[in-house]
Amino acid sequence: MRRHLGIAVAGRERMPEGKGLLIVYTGPGKGKTTCALGTAFRAVGQGLRVLMLQFIKGSWHYGELDAAKMLGDDKFEIRPMGRGFVKVGGADTDPEDVRMCEQAWEYGREQIYSKKYDLVVLDEINYVISYKMLDADRVVDTLIQRPERVHVICTGRNAHPRLVEAADLVTEMREVKHPYTKGILAQRGIDY
Ligand code: ATP
Ligand code: MG
Repeated sequence: MRRHLGIAVAGRERMPEGKGLLIVYTGPGKGKTTCALGTAFRAVGQGLRVLMLQFIKGSWHYGELDAAKMLGDDKFEIRPMGRGFVKVGGADTDPEDVRMCEQAWEYGREQIYSKKYDLVVLDEINYVISYKMLDADRVVDTLIQRPERVHVICTGRNAHPRLVEAADLVTEMREVKHPYTKGILAQRGIDY
C-alpha cells in the first residue's frame, strides 16, 4: 500500500527512487511546454538540476527565460537553440533550420549523457521529428540508452509512435476550447 495526496493507493510495490523517466507531452491542445515548465519548477524545488533546450524558439522573449534566471542558472537553465520559427514541409525546409536542429540535438545528447542534469526537457522536439528535421530512430535509440537516473521530457505535437512506445509517461493535450478560435491573441504571462 502506498500513499498519494494523502490517499492510500493499493497496487504494485513502489519502484526504487531514482529511476529516470522518459516523458512525452503531446497533442493539439495548449499546455505541453507549460506542463514541462511546471515539472521543471517542481524538480528545482527538490534540488534537481534542470536543463530545457528549445528546438524552435529563438528570438521571442518568453517569461520562463527570466523566471529561470531568478531561480539561478545552476538550478534551471533554458537554452533557446532555434530561430523563432521554421519554414517546413518537404522541399521548403530550410537547410539552415535542419543544421540548427542537428546542433541542438547533438548538444542535448551530450548534456543528457554528461549526467550534469537530473532532468532535461527537449522542447518542441516532437515537432521537428514530425517534420523529418531529425531522425526519429536515432533520437529514440539514444534516449532509451541514456544514463538510468536522467529524466527526459519531450514536448510538441505529433509525437512519433516509436517515442510513444519507448516512453514511460505520455500525456496528450486535447483541445476543448482555445481563445484563438475567438480571435483572442496570445497573452503575456499565459502564452509567452
Ligand atoms: P504552451 O507553451 O502554452 O504550453 P503548447 O506547448 O501546448 O503551449 P505549442 O504547440 O508549442 O503549444 O504552441 C505554442 C504556442 O501556440 C503557444 O503560445 C500556445 O498558446 C499556442 N497554442 C497552443 N495550442 C493552441 C491551439 N490549439 N490553438 C491556437 N494556439 C495554440
Ligand atoms: Mg510548446
